[in-house]
Amino acid sequence: MAAAAVPVRKRIMKEEDMTKIEFETSEEVDVTPTFDTMGLREDLLRGIYAYGFEKPSAIQQRAIKQIIKGRDVIAQSQSGTGKTATFCISVLQCLDIQVRETQALILAPTRELAGQIQKVLLALGDYMNVQCHTCIGGTNVGEDIRKLDYGQHVVAGTPGRVFDMIRRRSLRTRAIKMLVLDEADEMLNKAVIFCNTKRKVDWLTEKMREANFTVSSMHGDMPQKERESIMKEFRSGASRVLISTDVWARGLDVPQVSLIINYDLPNNRELYIHRIGRSGRYGRKGVAINFVKNDDIRILRDIEQYYSTQVDEMPMNGEQEHRQTHLSQRGPKSGP
Ligand code: ADP
Ligand code: MG
Repeated sequence: MAAAAVPVRKRIMKEEDMTKIEFETSEEVDVTPTFDTMGLREDLLRGIYAYGFEKPSAIQQRAIKQIIKGRDVIAQSQSGTGKTATFCISVLQCLDIQVRETQALILAPTRELAGQIQKVLLALGDYMNVQCHTCIGGTNVGEDIRKLDYGQHVVAGTPGRVFDMIRRRSLRTRAIKMLVLDEADEMLNKAVIFCNTKRKVDWLTEKMREANFTVSSMHGDMPQKERESIMKEFRSGASRVLISTDVWARGLDVPQVSLIINYDLPNNRELYIHRIGRSGRYGRKGVAINFVKNDDIRILRDIEQYYSTQVDEMPMNGEQEHRQTHLSQRGPKSGP
């Protein structure tokens, strides 16, 4: 029996979208212009055509074969060029359907995206009898455990819940032969948002949770033990945003972060460097964004002058009435 039909909002790429793109690849990467010549299994090929794809997109023509060969692949291209389908097809090709174990794990930065991946995978694998489950936060843990116990060939999920399921040994990793990080640049981003007061930290944490973000938060009134456990959670990737007062800036063993947001500007210029020093370390590029009210501009100019740096204004958009947003990009050398 084929997997149950799942409604998928699909868009079929136009021919011109697929061929206009130019690619840079590693030397040995060749172009396979049709799905037929990729050596795909019959039931998968059927699913691809039934889904409405006729010809592989530029990135599919290059990446699918390499992934199937077992190479580690980084595929990078603009959104809408067929990357999701690239790894879904590759994952499906590599499954042994007889083995009811998780053979591919796909991590995505948001719950919605994980759900979308599952739908595309099930649709392309419609003739394969494939089991694919999403492990995402905000859903029933017991249900996840039950589904995983039943056996899932593929799991698509967000890091927090997936990690939880692995820790409980509900998600067995023994048979996993493929790991996919969708939107890897986004996935590997662990951001920190600084506020000046504990009250603001609590308030913003609540607002962001209401808006469905997975965030950790920390402030000076917390006992050291609790702070350490929150840092552990942040480091593990279970949450990708940490909201904090300046306790975080000093002394703690903190991971590399690529984005610092100053929700409040710090009260002095030394703190500014403590905060943004967490990004852009080891020669990597980091970004700091400051939310600045009119009263704050003076402080920002002072910081600029003191550190002989320039903080550029981000393009305004109409929604930001009260707060102007400033952006500064900083390499490792632009500090004192
Ligand atoms: P990306 O992950 O790069 O943003 P997707 O894999 O989500 O891109 O694909 C974008 C859209 O193009 C999707 O709606 C998908 O159905 C469609 N698409 C992908 N590959 C093909 C193809 N080979 N032929 C036609 N449409 C395609
Ligand atoms: Mg995608």
